Amino acid sequence: MKFPVFPMRQIHLDFHTSPDIPDVGADWDAEHFAQTLKNAHVNSVTIFAKCHHGMNYYPSEIGPVHPALTFDLLGEQIAACHKEGIRCPIYLSVVWDVSAAERHPEWRQVDKNGKLVGMAPFGTDPLPFTAWPWLCVNNGYADELLAQTKELIDRYGDECDGFFYDILMYNGDGCFCPQCLRSLKESGLDPENPRDRRRNNHASARRFMARVSELIRSRLPDAGIFYNSRWGVHFADEAEYYSQVEIESLPTGGWGYGFYPLWSRYGRNFGLPMLGMTGRFHRSWADWGGLKHPDALKFECGGILATGGAISVGDQLASRGRLSEPVYEVIGEAFAQVEQVEPYCIGAVGVADVALLILDPQADRATMSAASGHIEGAAKMLLELHHQFDVVTETTCADFGRYALLVLPDQAYASPETVERLRRFVAQGGKLLLSHEALLSTEKSAFLLADEMGVDYQGPAQSSPDYFQITAPALFGTLTRAGFPYSYYDGPAVRVTPRPGTDALADAYETYFNRTGVHFTSHGFTPPVAEKADYPAITRNGGVLYLHGPVFGAYQRYGSLTFRALVGKCLDLLLPEPLVETDAPPSTEVAVTRQESAGRWMVHLVNYSPQRRSPGHVEALDAPIPLRDVTVTLRGAGPISQVSLAAAGDRLPFATDPAGAVTVTVPRVGAHEIVVFQG
Ligand SMILES: [Zn+2]
Repeated sequence: MKFPVFPMRQIHLDFHTSPDIPDVGADWDAEHFAQTLKNAHVNSVTIFAKCHHGMNYYPSEIGPVHPALTFDLLGEQIAACHKEGIRCPIYLSVVWDVSAAERHPEWRQVDKNGKLVGMAPFGTDPLPFTAWPWLCVNNGYADELLAQTKELIDRYGDECDGFFYDILMYNGDGCFCPQCLRSLKESGLDPENPRDRRRNNHASARRFMARVSELIRSRLPDAGIFYNSRWGVHFADEAEYYSQVEIESLPTGGWGYGFYPLWSRYGRNFGLPMLGMTGRFHRSWADWGGLKHPDALKFECGGILATGGAISVGDQLASRGRLSEPVYEVIGEAFAQVEQVEPYCIGAVGVADVALLILDPQADRATMSAASGHIEGAAKMLLELHHQFDVVTETTCADFGRYALLVLPDQAYASPETVERLRRFVAQGGKLLLSHEALLSTEKSAFLLADEMGVDYQGPAQSSPDYFQITAPALFGTLTRAGFPYSYYDGPAVRVTPRPGTDALADAYETYFNRTGVHFTSHGFTPPVAEKADYPAITRNGGVLYLHGPVFGAYQRYGSLTFRALVGKCLDLLLPEPLVETDAPPSTEVAVTRQESAGRWMVHLVNYSPQRRSPGHVEALDAPIPLRDVTVTLRGAGPISQVSLAAAGDRLPFATDPAGAVTVTVPRVGAHEIVVFQG
């Protein structure tokens, strides 16, 4: 079927069903299925051809049909959905397939100890989430998947709206199966080098994607194509095989509420439609007994729309084939609101004046558990400080000049070409904020941009950790007080020597001694000595500001609000007129998008109200505390004729200053509000 617009309200309907379950499809009712989706304002649903058990839900001749299934469930789902104008891409599990692993043990991934990757024969207690046999696609399994794709296209023709290939990934150590060892040697790669193994696995996955995408495009040029479980920086090297970006990120399912805001700001720069995937579960996939509060879903939908994304909500169909009405009451409540405001979201693109620049040749897959990451800490800060930012790499951003300011957090390794690009960026008035070991040479002897930074590298600080005292009044504030020695808790920081003309904005202080078993004092690390150290803690040379400690990673690890406030003050110095300013609290996501054809800009306000909770369980959001009289100032949108609220349509009075900045006051924000600035 043809769908003129990428659907904004999607369901990902899991259906992993063991062959031991005896009643598959017993309650199937096509009309109930389609009506339940329609009543919940769903306009796309991803349905199953083949699940992780390797069971098929249509009369396949390639793999086994689920033994309890007596009819073509997939075909009936497609017909029911298309009758109601609902798009339905088709799901196939790739690396996890119990049936294929049983039929072809030689197709399985092998770890560095020579063991098959995945579940042991009798499992463990409790059985982990990923306890499936893992298959490699560098063998005949890829042919089987290709044949199955062809079978689906032959059978359903242009009723196939798209294909979702799940779990296309390799275990962290890489695959040591006989075929992968052969490929490593043939490619001149070193099987003992983890990076080479990763490269080989990427090559196998990309060969597979190239074949599959070519087949689909040759038969169904409009069909969607997505490969899941591969998300990360390396997406740039394989984007050509995809028709859209989908970011699996169930906030309560292990990804947390910080994953999507970071990675969507990377994923939205490829010119492809982008889906943010959350779930209806209290916890994660296959949580049959948990259903979240509609308020949580409304917040999550708001956060996705704010980045320019469409929404996918994960659900799982019960084996009997009947959708749960309570589930679709919850989803419907959130999707009704999305439908109301989506004219302001379809085709909207994010606008940013700041870029978080990832320079790391090792950066690869995005990890769910980056509890200590400097990239994650930087994104969290920028989000809470309400800066508008993209996440880019040297390859995904051809022109740094698109941004007013680049942030290079804690660690960044730059090639000579990138150093030259950064040099030109600064020479043309671009601002840089960098910290700790960012742009240090690989042998850790000198800063690659020392002239622009106005400091020379001396080495690691002796005290670990050390302290810093802010001396520049412009950096003083509630959390950044004069006269107090703050610490990043982690060390060692970096000793630098400022060049003439470089300003020191904070002094460093060493400790009496580092805490060891031989000499220690009190409970924690050692207090600072009275005399300041002979190296500064924060320096500024023109448009380049440098902090000597790992402030971004430390924020992710320790959450000290001082670190965020300090970076906020530094950004204010470098970027006194940011794209947007607001008095909304840091918990509120504030994001700017633009619809070029409609001549309007939108400011999304997404109100996150965290709850007190025990450390062991997920964040369970409900009943957001409404925000009142939130002031928003937007710059750069050009002359504005009208400001209004997307959902209610209310017009808001606004003021324009001589420089063109437009200021409005939003009377109330529940979970999500969109302020529309019409040009
Ligand atoms: Zn292999």
